[in-house]
Amino acid sequence: MTTIETTASDLAQRRHLATAIPGPKSVALQAEKQAAVAAGVGTTLPVYVVAAGGGVVVDVDGNSLIDFGSGIAVTTVGNSAPAVVDAVTEQVRAFTHTCFMVTPYESYVRVAAALNRITPGDHDKRSALFNSGAEAVENAVKIARAYTGRQAVVAFDHAYHGRTNLTMALTAKSKPYKSGFGPFASEVYRAPMSYPYRDGGLDGAAAAKDAITVIEKQIGADNLAAVVIEPIQGEGGFIVPAPGFLPALAAWCRRNDVVFIADEIQSGFARTGQMFACEDENVVPDLILTAKGIAGGLPLSAVTGRAEIMDAAPAGGLGGTYGGNPLACAAALAVIDTIDSENLLDRARQIGDTMLDRLRTLAASDARIGDVRGRGAMIAVELVEEGTKTPDAALTARIAAYAHAQGLIVLTCGTYGNVLRFLPPLSMPDHLLAEGMDILEQAFREN
Ligand SMILES: *Cc1c(COP(=O)(O)O)cnc(C)c1O
Repeated sequence: MTTIETTASDLAQRRHLATAIPGPKSVALQAEKQAAVAAGVGTTLPVYVVAAGGGVVVDVDGNSLIDFGSGIAVTTVGNSAPAVVDAVTEQVRAFTHTCFMVTPYESYVRVAAALNRITPGDHDKRSALFNSGAEAVENAVKIARAYTGRQAVVAFDHAYHGRTNLTMALTAKSKPYKSGFGPFASEVYRAPMSYPYRDGGLDGAAAAKDAITVIEKQIGADNLAAVVIEPIQGEGGFIVPAPGFLPALAAWCRRNDVVFIADEIQSGFARTGQMFACEDENVVPDLILTAKGIAGGLPLSAVTGRAEIMDAAPAGGLGGTYGGNPLACAAALAVIDTIDSENLLDRARQIGDTMLDRLRTLAASDARIGDVRGRGAMIAVELVEEGTKTPDAALTARIAAYAHAQGLIVLTCGTYGNVLRFLPPLSMPDHLLAEGMDILEQAFREN
């Protein structure tokens, strides 16, 4: 038996540049990648990882990078978080798979019960488990259609819901997600999103009225199965809708028997300093979708919601070979415990306060930062040409490249490619959070 020499909790919590980024071993691996992996699978920062934990990612060349990405909001409790490692190790020794639809196991039921408990609302709930975020979105739409007997689905401007055929249709941005990949699923409609920085500062009620007018005039509530929305948009640019927007939409859905689906795949699971972003305005979705942060890096997703809606799909109508795999379920239970035992909701709020404070100070002296927004450990800046609101994607790319070269992992996003987003794991130590912010300040000074 081989022994694991380094565990995540042993990793030195420091930034360290042993070579240029990427180093020679990563460059060689990237050449092999180009020869072996389909070109459509891109890489943002091609350093090849050998270990990660706390606030760092360590590569094959011995570089230790500060992680402001969490593998796109996945390793919220930390990479290889100790409780997750223990739970998965124990499970992998016991059994790796049976298929829950063939011979079930307890951890799946425990995860479903935990999701029913921790998601908003005290009504009777049921959950179903899947593998990826896109799969959760697909299944939520299936369930909403089965329950309502209606077909149409509304998604929003700047929405991102995945890369499968139905979720491409729900996703707003053409390049790189949709272009050339059609035809797309039918009966998907788009409504305007509340985007305070770019919609003239419409208040939430007014923005919701605009969206509802589009829905009523172009689709009609009688034809509408569901409204799908990210309470804080992810890939679309970390857009936080104006207060009142989500409650007004949810209320309209309730009045019209339309299923209100919150896609919390990126914003959920403690990321924003609450378990779910929709809790900020006491919005209770009919169905809530989770993935990414749910299982500390193991592939798992879920649809959770009102029992009468969830139970509308007949036995055999939902499922999949791997959905709710036992390793992923063990990980998810450990994640839920860790969020609680380590007070990670508080930690997310502290991280958010620190980042917002530093970024607002920076924005006050740099007019290219048009907007600073987000909540908890889900924070972004939108970059524009000075004195305008014209998106500056080139500057955004330069700042990201500068940060990468300095050993700070940051991601970009946004319909206009001009948003830098920060998603540190909640295991990020204060000194690395501060050092990451120093690098960002330097990046703006030098670009
Ligand atoms: C990432 C994401 C998805 C898709 O999840 P996958 O696991 O990549 O399929 C869906 N919705 C939102 C909001 C996301 O951020």
